[in-house]
Amino acid sequence: MVTKALLKGSIKGVGKFHKTSVFPCGIFQYMKGVNDKPGTPNYDLFKLALKSTAKRLYPNYANVDWSGNVGYDPNDPRTYFSTMGCRTANGWDINGFGQLKDGRGNICPVTIILPTIAMEAKQWIDSQGIERIPPKYKEIGIEQAYIDSFIDNLDKAINDAKDMLIERFEYICSQDPSSAKFMYENRTMAGYVPEEGIRSALKHGTLAIGQLGLAECLQILVDCDHTEIKGMELAKKIEQLFKDKCAEFKQKYSLNFGVYYTPAENLCYTAMTKFKEKYGEIPNVSDKLFFTNSTHVPVWKEISPFEKIDIESQLTGYSSAGCITYVELDTAVLDNIEALESIVNYAMEHDIPYFALNVPADFCADCGYTGFIEQDECPQCGNQNIQRLRRVTGYLTGDYKTAFNKGKQQEVELRYKHSKKLNLKK
Ligand SMILES: [Zn+2]
Repeated sequence: MVTKALLKGSIKGVGKFHKTSVFPCGIFQYMKGVNDKPGTPNYDLFKLALKSTAKRLYPNYANVDWSGNVGYDPNDPRTYFSTMGCRTANGWDINGFGQLKDGRGNICPVTIILPTIAMEAKQWIDSQGIERIPPKYKEIGIEQAYIDSFIDNLDKAINDAKDMLIERFEYICSQDPSSAKFMYENRTMAGYVPEEGIRSALKHGTLAIGQLGLAECLQILVDCDHTEIKGMELAKKIEQLFKDKCAEFKQKYSLNFGVYYTPAENLCYTAMTKFKEKYGEIPNVSDKLFFTNSTHVPVWKEISPFEKIDIESQLTGYSSAGCITYVELDTAVLDNIEALESIVNYAMEHDIPYFALNVPADFCADCGYTGFIEQDECPQCGNQNIQRLRRVTGYLTGDYKTAFNKGKQQEVELRYKHSKKLNLKK
């Protein structure tokens, strides 16, 4: 009843003009045997959720049966897979809470800019000249030399990221509990023991090692991204390194290090600006204003929703501290709940942990018209007071043209509508 009321409220919208509610972020927990198929007890709620998504972009879909949440307790919903909205998630707690999600959070993240590390590795090899390249690199060929040098540098960067996170964690733990009294006294942060200080609660949270621009990194090293087999092979090696290192740190320090696929709303632009100043414009690497979000397929790739899921689902399993997969849809899908349902089912079947659908949701602030507004004027009242609601990262934003930097704006404009590859009956 509560879920139904929430979804109905979401579909109805807020206030006189029935505006789309930007916050809070709605997440639907999709669970096999509970709400996934006709005949399951809460299938009606899944249908209602899809209807809401078609109109309001929310809810997103969390996959309760995701393999990365193994060890959860089917009798305890507090251990079901969920995210904090944008994408951050809590993996298995090494300090005793297991897969508990409630009362835990992401304590601090740090992000590694993969293309910069790839470029440094490549330039170092190139600068050596054929005579000075270490013998081991001569034997393996120049491309493998780039890759090996990159992996060495990435290993160092992940170690540096770990040191930075520990330093920040210690600093945060040095705070007095009175700085956030409510959180500790009301178990918003679980596990607080007054005698032990706030560390007793914060040690259950996540230290997230993030990444930006896998696609451009691969392009530098092997001249293609992970939409091609060669790129995907290297992508898996890179993600395995992140995963192994985090597992090692987790044991060694008894802190929850996890692999994080960073949203990088601002960093995608500032990192690119700095990269260009240093290395100039390189085709398919730095000829735009932003680096591609984490391990995502570049937004301009012309592939179907199913192909996008096929590719990204090969990498989401390496991440324990949070990731999101989304596909872009056009207006034709808005009235086609069956199409939306097939896409969500496909993502869940392919073990995508957290999935979101982007549909156009423009809004006329003068008359309340909602939908895709192609022109500058509202089709209903002709005024130009249009707000363009988009999911730029995990959350919705009021108007991406004013709320985000130039890099992110360009990224939104370059997004290919994956539904164009579907043969949809209206
Ligand atoms: Zn209007």
